[in-house]
Amino acid sequence: MIFRCKSCGGNTVYSPERKKMYCPYCDGEDTQEQVPSEGMFNCPACGGELKIGDYNAALRCEYCDSYVIVEERTTGKYEPKLILPFIKSHKEAEEILKNEFGKQRFLPDDFLSDAKLSGMEGMYVPFFLYDFDVRYTISATGHKVRTWTSGNYQYTEDSLYQVERSIIVPIEKMPADASYEKPDEIMDLMEPYDYSQMESFDPKFLSGFLAEQYNMESEELLPRVQIKGRDDAKSITEKTITGYTSMTNRVDQSSFRQRETTYAMLPVWTYFYKYKDKTLPFYINGQTGKLVGQPPISGLKVLIYSGTVFAGMIALLSMWNILLGML
Ligand SMILES: [Zn+2]
Ligand SMILES: [Zn+2]
Repeated sequence: MIFRCKSCGGNTVYSPERKKMYCPYCDGEDTQEQVPSEGMFNCPACGGELKIGDYNAALRCEYCDSYVIVEERTTGKYEPKLILPFIKSHKEAEEILKNEFGKQRFLPDDFLSDAKLSGMEGMYVPFFLYDFDVRYTISATGHKVRTWTSGNYQYTEDSLYQVERSIIVPIEKMPADASYEKPDEIMDLMEPYDYSQMESFDPKFLSGFLAEQYNMESEELLPRVQIKGRDDAKSITEKTITGYTSMTNRVDQSSFRQRETTYAMLPVWTYFYKYKDKTLPFYINGQTGKLVGQPPISGLKVLIYSGTVFAGMIALLSMWNILLGML
């Protein structure tokens, strides 16, 4: 399905700046109508064959650049309950990269070029959000040790206490990305998202972006989330135990009560920079602008820089060799 402008027939997209649907062809706002697909594999705008991957829920037609939303993968069991629409625009995402890396030396010339940055794509990543309670219990023997001297004797008093703590920690919307392809560490680093800006799912938010349907089941991700929740509950419970010199016979226990699991899509700007034979990925949280990624170091620039500024300095030459060795 695509969103088509009723005024000019162009492909309307969701604009983070305007928080509305926008037609880039005639500047119209909220002029869209839905045009359904006939079959999953052809673009409803131009009829071109879509290169649709296993999990694409929204993609761009490579012939006419229209953003196509795959109904089969955004409805029924694949319909997200919530979506966090992009807050950061394409332009803002570019600025974030430029601000972060613009002043760095040794970057390849085209790393922040307009041509390369225009290839940056906004993508909705599938997430499950978990609401659950963790009951965390610590039992132990607490020791309060006191020593004093009287006459020729030193006294030590070890008072024993039975320590019992059992705390229920409610966890709200703990996220786990439901995508095989997205590295878990990257998605963990994208956090936190502010879920108060979430909206009920509407396919219009996908127009102008790429999206992936969930391709991991919520039960599969549950252990990962429970470990995080248990760690949070553990540290909260531990903080309530104070005043003891030491503890022995400590036994920790935890149990979980699942309340709700919500399928949601969260926004990420992606920039894949091809450098030599590698692709370097950069991710920007589409809501907060948080950036994750390591920039490439250009060998040629290191050489020129070292040559003009540090010429003749042996110590730096060895550093220079290390840098070149890294490339
Ligand atoms: Zn238009
Ligand atoms: Zn097309």
